Amino acid sequence: MRAALLHGPEDLRVEQVAEPVGEVLVRVEAATTCGTDVKMWRRGHPILPPYPAAFGHETAGVREDTGERVLVGDSVPCGTCRPCEAGRPQICREPHWVLGGFAERIAAPQAALHAVPGGLEPAAAAMAEPLAAAVHAVARAPGWPIAPDAGVLGGGPMGQMLAALLVAGGRTVTLTDPHAERRAQAEAAGAMTAARLADHDVVFEAVGRPGAWRAAVEACAPGGCVVLVGGCRAGTDAALPTRQLHYDELDVRGAFHHSREEVDEALALLAAGAVDWRALAAGPIGLEDLPAALAAGNDGPARKWIVVP
Ligand SMILES: [Zn+2]
Ligand SMILES: [Zn+2]
Repeated sequence: MRAALLHGPEDLRVEQVAEPVGEVLVRVEAATTCGTDVKMWRRGHPILPPYPAAFGHETAGVREDTGERVLVGDSVPCGTCRPCEAGRPQICREPHWVLGGFAERIAAPQAALHAVPGGLEPAAAAMAEPLAAAVHAVARAPGWPIAPDAGVLGGGPMGQMLAALLVAGGRTVTLTDPHAERRAQAEAAGAMTAARLADHDVVFEAVGRPGAWRAAVEACAPGGCVVLVGGCRAGTDAALPTRQLHYDELDVRGAFHHSREEVDEALALLAAGAVDWRALAAGPIGLEDLPAALAAGNDGPARKWIVVP
């Protein structure tokens, strides 16, 4: 079968490879690209296996054995580590990662598979993976009656998904991003936009740079909550304003990944039309187009490329 393999930083090759081996073989209908793929392609990533590495972690397809349509979840928590025992599988210490969506077929453990609601398109099902991370991030902060006013820092795909979820949840949402196209996308989803965020009950940071972490804290109202969704480059430190953290009693929380239930919730939200996934979709493209799509990087509108292998 054909698969896109990473051989090193910015060295992606589409090759003929052996069939993947695992519990369930899934024929890939659509795999979507994400910021993590760009990081993996550009500089490698801690969860990548050794080179040459299969990647792609937002994957929907059809089970070769039963013909059932499935979303291939990108991880299975161990179930026995301390966070897993405490009901927090998102931060499992030893998850089994399931990568390899940029290929004609992917092998996955049964436990990673989710049934796709009837009628949901493959690309939409694939996007349930990142949307589940947004569902989790929203759940990390106080909800609507306590925190009606939300700020979102960053208008990439994650910021757009957060804004859409928060709007659907009845909040007043303000998103900030230097790109006019991204501000327009957020406005189309029902959010307001501003050059700067200020005084929000809850602030979601979806950029992944130390300066943005600081800006998120500075934009939080006294007694509010900051949720850090964007992962910064490994080894980076962020300088945060101590006066506000202490005297304003801010809650600063990380948000990472998702649980199995959050993935199912994301699938249900997409099936119900609560999030306009088409507004983020670009393509479809083939495996050969992946390097150019990943290199296109972060300018212009927020978009996720739909790869049809
Ligand atoms: Zn992703
Ligand atoms: Zn675990």
